[in-house]
Order: sequence, then C-alpha cells, then structure tokens
Amino acid sequence: MNAETAPLVCDVAVVGGGMVGCLLACSLAREGISVVVVERQSPASEWPDDEIDLRVSALTRASQRILDNLGAWEEMVRLRVSPYHGMFVWDQGGSGSIRFDAAEVAEPDLGHIVENRVTRLALWHQLEALESARLLVPDTVSRLDLERRTLLLASGRSLRARLIVAAEGVNSPLREMAEIASRGWDYDQHAIVATIRTEVDSGGVARQRFMPAGPLALLPLNDGRSSIVWSTSPAEAERLLALEETEFCSELAQASEYVLGRVEWVGPRGAFPLRLRHAERYVREGLALIGDAAHGIHPLAGQGVNLGFLDAAMLRDVVVDALATGRDPGAFAVLRRYERARKGGNLEMLAAMDLFKRLFSNDYRPMAQLRNLGLTLADRSGPLKRIVVQRAMGLSGERPSLAKRRLAPR
Ligand SMILES: Cc1cc2nc3c(=O)[nH]c(=O)nc-3n(C[C@H](O)[C@H](O)[C@H](O)COP(=O)(O)OP(=O)(O)OC[C@H]3O[C@@H](n4cnc5c(N)ncnc54)[C@H](O)[C@@H]3O)c2cc1C
Repeated sequence: MNAETAPLVCDVAVVGGGMVGCLLACSLAREGISVVVVERQSPASEWPDDEIDLRVSALTRASQRILDNLGAWEEMVRLRVSPYHGMFVWDQGGSGSIRFDAAEVAEPDLGHIVENRVTRLALWHQLEALESARLLVPDTVSRLDLERRTLLLASGRSLRARLIVAAEGVNSPLREMAEIASRGWDYDQHAIVATIRTEVDSGGVARQRFMPAGPLALLPLNDGRSSIVWSTSPAEAERLLALEETEFCSELAQASEYVLGRVEWVGPRGAFPLRLRHAERYVREGLALIGDAAHGIHPLAGQGVNLGFLDAAMLRDVVVDALATGRDPGAFAVLRRYERARKGGNLEMLAAMDLFKRLFSNDYRPMAQLRNLGLTLADRSGPLKRIVVQRAMGLSGERPSLAKRRLAPR
C-alpha cells in the first residue's frame, strides 16, 4: 500500500467544519488529540468593513467562555462582536411585555451578537495553528463503514478514526448513513434576515415582538444598526422579499411598532425555512452527532449554536477523560455519557421554544390575555427573571469544563 492509498489515521474525525465542528476539533487538538476535519467549503476570510453577514447569532456567556478558553474570542473581538446589555420582549396582542437588564444579574452584558462568519473564521485560524489538527477542504464523505470506523471521502482518500463525529448541520448526510432517524416538523415559517439602519440607534438592546405570524427580532450591532430575524409564513416572506427597499422598510417599521423609529435603510435580504428536528439518538458505537446534526431549534430564543457549543464542549470532556484513562473514545458506553449529559436538556429547550412559538402564534383572545398576564407577572417577579436570564446565558445546569471558567493561559 503506498502513501496515497493508505488510510489517514487519527483519534477523531469531524465531518463538517462549521462553527460547532470547528469548536470541537479545536478543543480536542489543543489537548494534543489528533483530529481531522472534513469540510466542503473554506470559511470566508475577507469582507468589506461595513458589511454585516446575513447570518448572525446571539452568543451566550457560556459560549463566550468556551470560545475564550479556546483562544478564539480575542480574534472575534478584533473582527467584530456586539455586546447587548438589555432585552425587551413584547406581544402584539396586548399590553404584556418583559424587560431584562444585565445589571439585574450583575453582569456587564447579556451576551453578544456575532456574525457566524466571524466565529467560524476565528476557530478556523486556531485550527490551522494547531499541530494535532488537519483540515481536509474541500472534501466530503461518500461512504461510512462504521464497523471499521472508516470514511471513504469524495477525494478518494480514506480516513480511519477511533471516533467519527457528524457536525454537518441539520441535513447531516452522516446521520443518514448511520441510519439514525431525526424527528420533527416544518414550522411553516421562513425567517427573513437582513441588516437595517433605523432612525433611533439600537443602543445595545435586543428587541423581539411576538406576532401571530411569527416573532420579529431586532438584534443590536455595535455601530447602532440592527440585524433582523423576521419569522413569518412562507408566502408572506416571499412577498416581503420581493418588495422595493422603501416599501420593505416601511412595512418593517410598522411591524416593529416604530420601536426604533423609521427604518431608513435595509441591506440585502435572505430567508431560511424553519424546522424543528431532533435525532432519535446522538450516539452509536464509533459515532456521535453534535450541533444542528443532532437538533434543529426555532431561532426565537437564539439558542441553536449555543446548544451546539455545549454539545461539543461536553463531548470534548468525555473524549479527553476516556483517552486519559486508556479507554476507547468511540466505545458506546463512553459516548453514552455525552448523550446523557446533552440530550435531555436539548429536548427541554426544543420543547420550550416550540411551546413559546405556539403560544405566541395564536390570536385567540383568551390566549392573548393569558400570555400578556404571564409576561406582566414575570416582568414583576425579580427571582423568576433572574432564573430566566441565568438560563438564557447558559450559566445554569450541568456545564462542560470549558464553559465553567476561564482556564489558565497555555
Ligand atoms: C435565521 C436564523 C437565525 C439564527 N439565530 C441564532 C442565534 O441567534 N443564536 C443561536 O445560537 N443560533 C441561531 N441560529 C441557529 C444556528 O445558526 C445553528 O444552530 C448553527 O449554525 C449550527 O451550527 P453547526 O455547525 O451545527 O451547523 P452548520 O452551521 O450548518 O455548519 C455545518 C457545516 O458542515 C459543512 N457540511 C455540510 N454538509 C457537508 C458534507 N456533506 N461534507 C462536509 N461538510 C459538510 C457545511 O459547509 C458547514 O460548514 C439561527 C438559525 C437561523 C436559521
């Protein structure tokens, strides 16, 4: 067998070098564990200074800690992150509203709005600098032999690993090759995303208005603009996308109840179909699912990638422990520890967001009165608000070691 046909061998093969796959690979390679990432597309590395990616995510404190502990946060701050210190949520169907403020939980901010390309690029750069990491890009998997823990790649290479991880997002081909079912449904909603400039500066406050057709989120950027996520029916999304810029701005201002005054400018617009998905199991002997490959959640509470980062950081703990004690990191019993730590909590979050979506997409009057009462009572209850904020920031429940504290510099 020559070097070309001999399989590449590593401890962990990560398929999908998106935000979650890169984070896992980085966390393992920093421990000297050999990792190969198979990714079909390199991240964008340059963009105009004033252009905001259509895809942004609200990152929690737990995610920030993980990224900081992996050395990526510093570059992200250099590239651009937008902290937000307040959040205001209100309901179209009445007077109910709730406000959150970082000061109430003695934190400097509630989280950061970050372009997905910023997070991915910073992690990618970390990976490029780590000796134990190897990036195979562009490449993809054409066959999985789980018994031999071997992947045949489209490039013709083969790759043998002690553990194979699927991180290719919601339509994960590897999950299908491993015959793991993923259950869920389409929300019959599309999320319109765009960057806007408004008459009033967004002022570091995230705002979300619930409407029967879906929520509208205005996420603050550090130059005073906002990034929007406007969920609505597919037909309405199509109509809104086809509008002239001024008409779109005017409809958006109305939909936001002029909370930031007039909408003066909108950049390019895009739309994403929204689905709920949950894999029946996260692990099989030799294989684990992380991130959107394991679960797809409604973006209304901005939890998707944050859950994915917690998956990755927890799987990292399990693999590091197994290797340190001479166990097989791909053994089913080892991987079950990861599944037990993450699946229940993810399911809880999926169900809670699903319930919220249903509760607020309903214009039945008694229901509207009830949720307005709920919002008002919750707003007045200090302890309840603190619990909600701690949870939303990822600071409660079982946490992986990377999310607990800032680790000593290496
Ligand atoms: C409108 C919208 C708003 C959102 N807002 C938020 C938010 O505020 N906060 C939040 O936490 N989450 C948010 N999310 C969710 C978040 O975007 C996802 O949870 C996150 O992108 C999942 O990351 P991932 O790495 O698991 O998957 P992905 O981001 O889908 O990455 C998958 C990677 O795998 C690669 N890939 C795919 N197939 C293959 C293959 N066959 N071979 C090799 N590589 C492959 C892709 O190129 C990609 O790089 C939002 C989602 C939407 C739609």
